[in-house]
Amino acid sequence: MHFFKKLFIVSSTGILLALAGCKSDSSTSSTTQISEEDLQPVAVPKFERDSAFVFVEKQVAFGPRVPNTEAHKQCKNWLVEKFKSYGLKVTEQPFQAKAYTGKTLNGVNIIAQYKPEAAKRILLAAHWDSRHIADSPLNVDRSNEPILGADDGGSGVGVLLEIARQLQATPADVGVDFVLFDAEDHGNDSDVNPDPESWCLGSQHWARNLVPAGYRPKYGILLDMVGAKGARFPKEEVSMTFAPQVMNKVWKLGQSLGYTNYFVNETAGPVTDDHYFVNVIAKIPMIDIIGKPANTQTGFGAHWHTHNDNMDVIDVRTLRAVGQTMLEVIYREAAGRF
Ligand SMILES: [Zn+2]
Repeated sequence: MHFFKKLFIVSSTGILLALAGCKSDSSTSSTTQISEEDLQPVAVPKFERDSAFVFVEKQVAFGPRVPNTEAHKQCKNWLVEKFKSYGLKVTEQPFQAKAYTGKTLNGVNIIAQYKPEAAKRILLAAHWDSRHIADSPLNVDRSNEPILGADDGGSGVGVLLEIARQLQATPADVGVDFVLFDAEDHGNDSDVNPDPESWCLGSQHWARNLVPAGYRPKYGILLDMVGAKGARFPKEEVSMTFAPQVMNKVWKLGQSLGYTNYFVNETAGPVTDDHYFVNVIAKIPMIDIIGKPANTQTGFGAHWHTHNDNMDVIDVRTLRAVGQTMLEVIYREAAGRF
C-alpha cells in the first residue's frame, strides 16, 4: 500500500471522486454511541500469539512472495492447505493483471470460508504477496530486490490463520470469510506519476468478480502491517469515510481489552489499500487496521518497503493485540453483541 497523498489531485479517475462523495452520507451515522451493555463480556478464546508468529515466520521462510515466482506458488499452496486443515471451504481465484512495469502478473486470491451456510457473515482480509522492490525513499539498500514482507503482508495473514485455527477449536455461530488478496503491493510509488489503481490488483479483481457470487457480508476488516513492535493504529480516513461505526466499535473493543497503545483515538490520512477498492467497487463497508506511526516521512514504519521488513520487526504482543481484538469481534457477532 502507499500513502494516499494525491487524493484530490488524481480525482479525475472518477473512482476517487466516490470517496469525497460518500463523506457526507456516512458522517451522520458515526455519532452512534456504543452502549455499556455492548461491552459486557462474552466467552472468547485466547489468541495464541506464538502460533501467529510461527505463521508469519513460515511465510517469510518461503522468501519474497512476488507473483510469477516459485516462492509465491509454494506459499500459496501452503496457505490453501493450512485453511483446509482447519475445515474451511477454500476457493482459489486466479487472475492475470498488468502491472505498471508492463509485466503480466499471474495472481491468485485465496478465499477460505468458515460456516459457508451461515446467513450472517463478516469478511476478514489481508494481502499475501510481498513487494517486488525495496523502494522506500528512506533506504536505498538493494532497492531493486524483492522484500521479505514479514510485517507488510505476512503479519496480517499470520493473524488470520490463527483466527481460523481458533474457530475450528471453539465454534462460533457466525460465518467468517477469510480473503487473502494477491498483488496488493506491486504498485507504482512514484511521486511524479502516481497511480492508485496500480496497487491492490487482487482486491480490484475480487471486488469486480465476487467469490462467493453476490457476496454481502455485514462488513469487512482488513489487516495490513499489524505485527511490528510498538505499532500504532490510528483511524485511517478511507475506513472512517465508509465504515465509521465499525471502526469506532473495533477501536473501543481493542481499548476495552487493554490495547490502548495500539488502538489510538487519532485519525490518519487515507491509504491506498485493498479496503478502498472493496468499498468503492464492491460497496462492502470495510475498514483497515494498518500500522502508521506518527510523523514519519513515508507515513509508515521505518521498515516499510525496505529489507528491514523481516522477522526482527515482528512482535508477538502486537500480533496478539490485533488477533485478540478480532476474536472479540467474531464471538461478539456470534452472540449478537457487536
Ligand atoms: Zn507495502
